[in-house]
Amino acid sequence: MSRILIVEDEERIASFVEKGLRSKGFVTSVVADGHTALDEARTGSYDLMILDIGLPGLDGFTVLRQLREGGATLPVIILTARDSVDDRVSGLAGGADDYVVKPFAFDELLARVHLRLRDDRTPDATVLQVGSMSLNLRTRRVEDGTKAIDLSAREFALAETFFRHPDQVLSREQLLSRIWGLDFDPGSNVVEVYIRYLRRKLGADRIETVRGMGYRFVVH
Ligand code: CA
Repeated sequence: MSRILIVEDEERIASFVEKGLRSKGFVTSVVADGHTALDEARTGSYDLMILDIGLPGLDGFTVLRQLREGGATLPVIILTARDSVDDRVSGLAGGADDYVVKPFAFDELLARVHLRLRDDRTPDATVLQVGSMSLNLRTRRVEDGTKAIDLSAREFALAETFFRHPDQVLSREQLLSRIWGLDFDPGSNVVEVYIRYLRRKLGADRIETVRGMGYRFVVH
């Protein structure tokens, strides 16, 4: 069972996140200021931290920086109302693993929590198998029965993300930041374009559009 540290000074949001995560079987603790957050995170008893930026005591960026300076590798998802690219960049440069902007849908946060927890446990396999399809990480080729499908570099990166997270909804922003990095204009349609390429190669029914949420790699 994964233990999650929720750092949030706004009671309403803290309780919304905590209730949601508990209902999904996570063990949670909530702290409401930066100093306590740092102390708790350093105990090493958590698998992931959800971190607000505007906090009493130390702000979230400082908590994160001090935590990373101390060598902690705990996955951190930043939760904040500040939707500027500057903050996004300082959050990730400061060692955050992901970023969720308020207001957010609980499912979006949950998807990112699963993503980050799974990242840690992913073994270094050469072949990722999903249903009848496999992705070979060395040859960068998809095999489906007797069919072998070659992918371009970006298609491969996108396919790898889907193969590592089958049946999970990945948001456009997640795909954009994972594959194209943060330099990319969030208004760009590059994700849609590459989803189309990948559908053409892997089959249109493999990648489902989940309205308002993102895309799901369908196992069958
Ligand atoms: Ca706050």
